[in-house]
Amino acid sequence: MYLVGMPESSERPPWVPDDAEGVFATTVMRGVEQPERRAARPSQMRRMPSVDELVEGIRGGDLALISRAITLVESNAPAHRPAAREVLQRIGGNPGFSRRVGISGVPGAGKSTFIEALGNYLCDQGHRVAVLAVDPSSSLTGGSILGDKTRMETLCRREDCFIRPSPSGGALGGVARKTRETIAICEAAGFDIVLVETVGVGQSEIAVRAMVDCFLLVLIAGAGDELQGMKKGIFEIADILMVNKADGENRIRAEATRQNFERVIHYLSSATEGWEPPVLTVSSMERRGIDELWNKVGEYFDHVQAKGIFEERRKSQALAWWQSLVEQELRVRFLSNPSVAAFSRKLESDILAGRTAPSLAAEELLALFSLNPSA
Ligand code: GDP
Repeated sequence: MYLVGMPESSERPPWVPDDAEGVFATTVMRGVEQPERRAARPSQMRRMPSVDELVEGIRGGDLALISRAITLVESNAPAHRPAAREVLQRIGGNPGFSRRVGISGVPGAGKSTFIEALGNYLCDQGHRVAVLAVDPSSSLTGGSILGDKTRMETLCRREDCFIRPSPSGGALGGVARKTRETIAICEAAGFDIVLVETVGVGQSEIAVRAMVDCFLLVLIAGAGDELQGMKKGIFEIADILMVNKADGENRIRAEATRQNFERVIHYLSSATEGWEPPVLTVSSMERRGIDELWNKVGEYFDHVQAKGIFEERRKSQALAWWQSLVEQELRVRFLSNPSVAAFSRKLESDILAGRTAPSLAAEELLALFSLNPSA
């Protein structure tokens, strides 16, 4: 019921009795319909969903619940551990259908632009793509520099894509552990392609290589020396190299760089048996060369699957994952034991004062472990 003279955009509030006629002067402006939001619903923000809700949400591909589950497994709080463990146990792991691809390159090489182009290309082909960023510098910045979603503007708006920065929590082991668990969650949610982005300057590449099936290196033309400020080792873990920004005036230089790398790569040992890494040119900006690149990735998967390398590698990666979890946990439990912590502080000052040698102090500290196995 509308009052005479009430603007069309307003209505009587629900608490006004129907027979109140004009006694109540209050009106309520009609709301504007809001677009559906992908962010977590308020009810989910208020409390941690149960394990059942998380598992169901993951299996149903609910992006908000997938995010919550990842936050749970990333948490260092001891109170979150049992639930995190149960979620991971229930979703299982290592499905053969997925393709895990690591993407690395120096900052500015165009990784994000490339992932935006590749991700859209893959989603258009009916794939569901998860993009995870491993950022070794986040312990310094307190956040993830790779988490800048604006660089993947169109991709982050797609329903068939999930983008998640992965704060490292300081330790490289932490990066590896959490990213692996995040991969497991994404795969359980039906994402068949998992792209793991990392900055190609340090050790994090080695950690990422140990979690993916295929490792892609993004290079740029004429960046001075042949190895572009990267360690030779980075090239030896790559399965496919691409020279990005092969457009405009840069096209010829990109092709020259491609040929140069093709020669260099020939002399390096290859990461995958029987596979010499191809070197391609791509323009992520103009989205050229993306299909050729993905065809190469397809050829690579055909090769590793036919040779049994794919399966073997996934098995050894699972073992390595387990070993690193045990090592991390041992370390945490040992060092957080009160008597170990106290003795450790004493030994530190002894070393600094020159009263004991580091090797002897290490033995003394570790002796606590055998005397007290619960340490
Ligand atoms: P990242 O740090 O490796 O993630 O690099 P970005 O994706 O942020 O790209 C760095 C800069 O290179 C940006 O200004 C991009 O617009 C530009 N860029 C990326 N890909 C291309 C490309 O294929 N061609 C050209 N001309 N510029 C590109």
